[in-house]
Amino acid sequence: MTTQIQVEDILVDVQFKRIKRMNLRVQAPHGAVRVSAPAWVSLGAVQRFVAANLAWIRKQQKRFEGPAGEAPLRYLDGETLYLWGRPYPLRLAPRRGRGPAVQLGGGEIVLGVGTGSSRQKRAAQVAAWYREQLRGAALPLIAKWEPAIGRRMSRLAIQQMKTRWGSCNTANGAIRLNTELAKRPPHLLEYVVVHELVHLIEPSHNQVFKDHMTRLMPQWREYRRELNRAGPVNS
Ligand SMILES: [Zn+2]
Repeated sequence: MTTQIQVEDILVDVQFKRIKRMNLRVQAPHGAVRVSAPAWVSLGAVQRFVAANLAWIRKQQKRFEGPAGEAPLRYLDGETLYLWGRPYPLRLAPRRGRGPAVQLGGGEIVLGVGTGSSRQKRAAQVAAWYREQLRGAALPLIAKWEPAIGRRMSRLAIQQMKTRWGSCNTANGAIRLNTELAKRPPHLLEYVVVHELVHLIEPSHNQVFKDHMTRLMPQWREYRRELNRAGPVNS
């Protein structure tokens, strides 16, 4: 059973499980807070547990905010965008014709803008471009790994997700990937692809799942650590 509580300004997903002790996590990429609790513990006890750990939670969440004082992107000339773990300066250019709004070339990311284009419009153009980049990189990786896994996914969705890098609907075989992955080094995307495909044979994160991961990608634990250590590059 999963439920949500609020402690001061912090929303907490609470999951009751057959475990012995309460367990608190602050997760990448956006610092979502999750508690796993034994089935016999009351919501009031979970609330007190979270309240007692608020300072720690806030400290963890700071790590996901990027360098101190970093402002959100305004999509202006000279700002830095990340693609596959590398920084690129953003350059604005007048948009001509019906070509793509965003292009990578000459070591920079060029965003074609119309007169009076709003920050929201630019943000949407860049987000759509990241989704395209991610889809273009993910599809060949999925095709590469499906034979080793012996299952095929049915559908790929790319979207911003608050608390997860990817997900797999084992009932219909659909896989979702977090757009943020396009900003990370490519081996981290490959790890998430393999992880979600392995869910097509084993839905939970049990020992069978881990054995498959180790067989297919021996260094997967290292990649998982790397992925969860860094907060969003900038988003
Ligand atoms: Zn999983």
